[in-house]
Amino acid sequence: MPETILKIALDVPLDRLFDYLSGEHDVQVGQRVLVPFGSRNQIGIVMDIADSSDIAIEKLKSILQAFNEETPLDAEMLSLIKFSADYYQYPFGQALLSSLPARLRQIAPAVSRKQYLYQLTDAGREADVEDIPKKQKVLRSVLSALQAANQLTEAELDDISGTARKAVKALVDSGYASCERVLAFQRVMAIAEAVEPKLNAEQMHAVQQITAESDVFKAWLLHGITGSGKTEVYIRLMQYALRHESAQVLVLVPEINLTPQLEARFRSRLPDFPLVSLHSNLSESERLHHWQLAQSGAAKIIIGTRLSIFTPLPDLKLIIIDEEHDSSYKQQDSMRYHARDVAMVRAKRLNIPVVLGSATPALETWYNATVNSNQASKYGLLRLKERAVSAAQLPQIDCIDTTKVNLQHGFTPQLITALRLRLERKEQSLLFINRRGYSPVLLCSACHWIAPCTRCSSRLVVHLGQRKLRCHHCGHEQRIPHQCPSCGDADLHPTGHGTQRLEQTLAQLLPEARIARVDRDSISRKNALVEILDRVHNQEIDILVGTQMLAKGHDFPNLTLVGVIDTDSALHSPDFRASERLFAQLMQVAGRAGRADKAGQVIIQTQFPDHALFNALRIQDYESYANVLLEERQQMQFPPYVFTALLRAEANDYTLVQQFLQLAFAQARSLSDQVLVYDPVRPQMERLKGMERGYVLMQAKQRPALHQLLKHLVSQMRAHKMAAKVRWAVDVNPLEF
Ligand code: ADP
Ligand code: ZN
Ligand code: ZN
Repeated sequence: MPETILKIALDVPLDRLFDYLSGEHDVQVGQRVLVPFGSRNQIGIVMDIADSSDIAIEKLKSILQAFNEETPLDAEMLSLIKFSADYYQYPFGQALLSSLPARLRQIAPAVSRKQYLYQLTDAGREADVEDIPKKQKVLRSVLSALQAANQLTEAELDDISGTARKAVKALVDSGYASCERVLAFQRVMAIAEAVEPKLNAEQMHAVQQITAESDVFKAWLLHGITGSGKTEVYIRLMQYALRHESAQVLVLVPEINLTPQLEARFRSRLPDFPLVSLHSNLSESERLHHWQLAQSGAAKIIIGTRLSIFTPLPDLKLIIIDEEHDSSYKQQDSMRYHARDVAMVRAKRLNIPVVLGSATPALETWYNATVNSNQASKYGLLRLKERAVSAAQLPQIDCIDTTKVNLQHGFTPQLITALRLRLERKEQSLLFINRRGYSPVLLCSACHWIAPCTRCSSRLVVHLGQRKLRCHHCGHEQRIPHQCPSCGDADLHPTGHGTQRLEQTLAQLLPEARIARVDRDSISRKNALVEILDRVHNQEIDILVGTQMLAKGHDFPNLTLVGVIDTDSALHSPDFRASERLFAQLMQVAGRAGRADKAGQVIIQTQFPDHALFNALRIQDYESYANVLLEERQQMQFPPYVFTALLRAEANDYTLVQQFLQLAFAQARSLSDQVLVYDPVRPQMERLKGMERGYVLMQAKQRPALHQLLKHLVSQMRAHKMAAKVRWAVDVNPLEF
């Protein structure tokens, strides 16, 4: 008998499959198996079943175990990951295995949480409850309940009676019911039956346009400021997609721990559709369970962060990407995929719509919705220009020139007055600063020494509370020195402002205010953010001080003032995306002011009040600013007008990095004349976590030319002996340099 040969994907940094014999195991494509690999055993996924191998049969090993209890991965998912691995130049096996919940990477069967489901049979349907003796009350109730509902779960039986499970077994024995084991699904009761608002004209238009083309691939940009009713549009679109009995919808969100509000809203508005979330705050077993519910089709609504784009969903009919511009959709290590781009490919293959929502779309997205003249890839553009609740006005935005006033501990008099006014009116304020810690620099006033991180090209941030200096890039910590290590002077000053210093200064300026700080230091515990947000909602906080953590998605009806401190460095950053990002961030924080019936005010402290960015912000005019930025990008030949990729490398020793990059540079140059290959350079952060870094930038007018080059370059570099001496990776469509 010919041996069956299995082509198996393994979690190893080699871009190939491995041949094994099936032995006595019965396996399918997509199945999880255990195989011997080198000196240890590994989990693999069967990708193909063949009857020949390039390797002599006697040399092949047999698989050790096949996890046949588990549903195999479906072809759609395997092919999506194959595409992504090729596109992002990452070994397929590693891409595949890392897309799975941790439990499926472990060498043990993935235990599913299952429960029994009892189904009424034809005989049961015809049975008459009256034929059961009156004494057997429970048996009678169970049969009636089953006849009414057709099926009952164990939990539903428990609601009938403590002995209902015993009774239903009697019904199974007499052929009135059948029983099967299914994945357990715990229904979360919606809090209240929420009312469905009447859509305004713009929302109605958006819903009509998208539903009119709901059975084909099309990307839609839903562009609307915060509070313009985008989520309401998502809900209607989900409702529409879910009208098909088995349909599933996937909603991607940037950070799940900031969106319990969204989850609650979906649950209360779409109570009939089982919902699961997929994100890193879940325990391993929860994550597996939710993933299995999605894979089995039992979960109809899946809310998740970027990785959930790789969840098998047998009946996916719609993808929604909320806050589509958010950079957390891009993975910054291993396979550097962008969930939005992968979603686009997935939707295209499934021929379903994908809806991108944002107040400040990514420039790439804006380009695709407005400039792109390719009819096939052009996005539909839908605008929501008004806030949905008519009383909610746009906030007034004032820029205060900090060079023209006397700052009081970093605060302009205008901002202090505005804060006082909110305290008097018992309204809330938010102060936004994009820097945590006490102050970003410790400076010697005698010799101008600045405390540096020894492992990174960065400065240590002063954390006064713990009397520590801390590097925000590598986590390095040390005590604050008593004297300058350079000149011995004792006059060391924390210079500049971080969240902790703002909080402290405010407490002195406004002693009666109740202040809370939200940044990564104060929100280390899982529920700390939820607790602070609850206190804000209960009016136990007057002033919130925080980083961008606060900018996203929260709705504070009584918050009427937003102060923005010190964002000027982003205006003149060498990163060509810095102003796009700052604009998005400021629009988002500004959106926190005055959401309900109270007018909001935003005060921005800056040295450049006449900057184009602020002018656009003042009138909340994303479109004209986006167009200005696009024009700049076109002139400079930056994305989205060109396609880029980086070859990044790092090592303890920069000469190795240099040698490697020089080699890659020469290879890349020789491979294509349609791709512009730049000389190796160092990033702004030259050293990170003790590693010396560098990169080669490649840029092309046409994507295929770039990808062809990358494919050859990567396989040549993988084969080269230098490749083992540095850590290197390809970053396609990089967001950061
Ligand atoms: P976004 O997602 O754009 O921030 P939301 O959908 O959350 O906007 O809407 C903002 C607020 O307006 C929510 O409280 C929502 O319930 C309400 N809302 C949305 N659409 C309508 C409508 N058509 N009529 C009345 N209220 C609405
Ligand atoms: Zn000094
Ligand atoms: Zn560091």
